[in-house]
Amino acid sequence: MATTETPASAERTDYPAHYRELTGLLRETAILSSAGATLGWDQETMMPPAAAALRAEQLAALSGLAHERRTSPRMAELLERSEADVDLAADPVVAANLREIRRTYDLATRLPTSLVREFAETSSRAMEAWKDARERSDFAAFAPWLEKVVELSRAKAEHYGAGRGGDLYDALLDEYEPGMSGAEVERIFDALRPGLAALIGAIAESEVQPDPRLATVRVPRDAQEVLNRAILEHIGFDFRGGRLDVSTHPFCESPGPGDTRLTTRYREEGFLDALVSTLHEAGHGMYEQGLPKAELFGQPIAEAVSLGIHESQSRMWENMVGRSRPFWEWALPMAKDAFGSALAGTEVDEVFAFLNAVRPGPTRVEADEATYNLHIMLRFDLERAMLRGDLAVRDVPAAWNERMRQDLGVEVVDDRSGVLQDIHWSMGAIGYFPTYTLGNLYAAQFWETVREELPDLDEQFARGEFAGLLGWLREKVHRHGGRFRAPELCERITGRPLSPEPLLRYLETKLKPLYGI
Ligand code: ZN
Repeated sequence: MATTETPASAERTDYPAHYRELTGLLRETAILSSAGATLGWDQETMMPPAAAALRAEQLAALSGLAHERRTSPRMAELLERSEADVDLAADPVVAANLREIRRTYDLATRLPTSLVREFAETSSRAMEAWKDARERSDFAAFAPWLEKVVELSRAKAEHYGAGRGGDLYDALLDEYEPGMSGAEVERIFDALRPGLAALIGAIAESEVQPDPRLATVRVPRDAQEVLNRAILEHIGFDFRGGRLDVSTHPFCESPGPGDTRLTTRYREEGFLDALVSTLHEAGHGMYEQGLPKAELFGQPIAEAVSLGIHESQSRMWENMVGRSRPFWEWALPMAKDAFGSALAGTEVDEVFAFLNAVRPGPTRVEADEATYNLHIMLRFDLERAMLRGDLAVRDVPAAWNERMRQDLGVEVVDDRSGVLQDIHWSMGAIGYFPTYTLGNLYAAQFWETVREELPDLDEQFARGEFAGLLGWLREKVHRHGGRFRAPELCERITGRPLSPEPLLRYLETKLKPLYGI
């Protein structure tokens, strides 16, 4: 493997005119998209409800303009000339950039306009149908829409995969996780499942069970916000180029260089939920802030590698840091200061046990670190089977409920808390789910490596020092932007391909002592 360590941001000034025009066009496109991203953020945080129709038109206009530029004949011409330029090909950073520009160009142009339109219309109506069906817990009402989405996804995959042959699923997964295949995901998931099931089974039988008391502690929202901000500042989220606001569903939006916005949500009886959720979004946000966007905005080389790598950053700060004992040795006294008497008598061990409770349940977004991945594996298997035509849409709820029983020992009482709980399929996002568990896997594998390279991380966290970890992530992951695909990045950082073992080891090391196993 190449050992050259040129950062993606080491920009040359002597590029030929066709390459400079190409990157200039990409920047113009990104400026349009960034305006859309800012409006999208506003929609979720500030916008008055009556502005919804105007906002939809604004966003459609901007994305239309961006799409026009992204797929223009001039773009194709410049890309071809750059690809044929042997001097450019000899530069590894430029070569990686061109590889990804080609990929996004192909993704944007391979689909016939009629299919793009039908997909957009169908998914927007399917989302409405899904909301309604979920409300009434009525899968049959959503089924015709899901059938349509699967059919259109199949057509999309055929266009993407045209000439490449292979698994239709790979073409869809590739949109979110370039370089990964369904077969590879299956291999890793199959190796992970038995170890997880054994661990979860042993925990269920343990006589030690965490005290749920902290779920009832009430803390005013203002005090929670003060603590969340203080912690973000401490771990290295840059507020000069970022914000923290409130929205119904927490998210991170980074329109461009110097602008990374996080949201969270506060409930009075849920200060720990809010905090770990804020840490999750901050992990996404600090990745965005560490990408080489200042110099290379608009070029794929300045963007995140994949959703799985993005998620590895959020899960690391949420779980490996935010659910660790050393973190709470530092953060609990801070929380006590911010919250007055609400946490009187609370010990680090109680917070640690509470945040790491393992309780199989029907809902993915409420799942703990151990059971979460079983929720993802189930979705991955079912969506792949639907796409292949091995599972009819009408049989999905029964298959879902059976897997929940087998894998998690959970009885699903209705479709609302079962097959209808997630928005993804209605949006047409088939191939998205595995990126969540890939994120956990990458996070755990990076975590093992960083702990070997920085053996005193626990002591650093206990003192409230996070610059060591953030600096390591900047150096190993962030500054490279999209130069390496996820599997290659993983090998470069950890010396090994992605494997299920680090995640299992991490979970066992943390959970077994907690549950006296
Ligand atoms: Zn995330």
